[in-house]
Amino acid sequence: MLDNGDLRQSFAGDVYNSAVYLKRCFKQFDTALFTAVGNDKLSQRMIARLDEENLNTEFVFKHPDKTLGLYMIETDESGERSFSYWRNDSAARKLVNFLDDTLVNALNPEDVMFFSGISLAVIDEDTRERFWEIIDTLKDRGLKIIFDSNYRPRLWSCVQEAKYQYEQALAHADMILPSVEDLQPLFGVGNPEELVAFCRLYDIEEIVVKDGPNSVLSSYQGQQQYHQIIPVEKVIDTTSAGDAFNGVYVGARLSGKSVDEAVKQAACAAGVVIQFAGAIVPYDHFMKAIKA
Ligand code: ADP
Repeated sequence: MLDNGDLRQSFAGDVYNSAVYLKRCFKQFDTALFTAVGNDKLSQRMIARLDEENLNTEFVFKHPDKTLGLYMIETDESGERSFSYWRNDSAARKLVNFLDDTLVNALNPEDVMFFSGISLAVIDEDTRERFWEIIDTLKDRGLKIIFDSNYRPRLWSCVQEAKYQYEQALAHADMILPSVEDLQPLFGVGNPEELVAFCRLYDIEEIVVKDGPNSVLSSYQGQQQYHQIIPVEKVIDTTSAGDAFNGVYVGARLSGKSVDEAVKQAACAAGVVIQFAGAIVPYDHFMKAIKA
């Protein structure tokens, strides 16, 4: 929503945002989005947006009688966000019903599967068990599982269910990109160090804790490291900072960069994103700014 009360319509969502920034920075990776849309005009426009960003839409399924979920973000003077949702009946809730063996067979062992706490929250509650079965199969095939901890309490029926699903995510993940803000309400971790110690109770190879303008704390194969972040002076809108960070971090790691190099590249992209309003910075502007 804009200062004058007007609305600006765009397509966003945490995993989508991450996919966009990953693909922009690492064109060599085939980046596909798994979701479900409708048959209406708005859904078609969303698919066209994905095409524009060179994302693979092979796994964007079309639900016969449902459509996109809506949400609205309002930002205050310091760039902090608040959310409203109209997504109880969205096509994306039905995603798991579309995931069958064809999908599992289409993926290769060197692929990674990335999902977030919002992905878990929006899929129908009675399909979550099936979701974990699919993740188990993919893991058995050798794919790495990556989890972004984005926690939106209002998307969950109760905190116990959220906690249980997050425990599943931690138990399955090879890489996790969390923040204290997300995991504190669920597990009581009060700072990045406590968060890393908590995640180490699970068998997670790579943990990268984001903390806004403060340093990033990583733990890779048990090696803990702090990475300096250079604060941006004029923050306009923090929407999608973490998403951009995640997408670029994953791309950098997949292309062989070290944890420290990947954090630098990811933080640079996130630093660009927070100087613009909205989740997705216009393409040319973004590409120019990350090279500057
Ligand atoms: P989320 O969007 O998930 O809340 P954070 O606020 O932790 O994520 O921000 C993610 C990343 O964005 C940080 O690790 C950092 O690289 C970058 N970032 C966020 N705020 C700032 C800032 N004020 N100055 C510079 N970089 C920032």
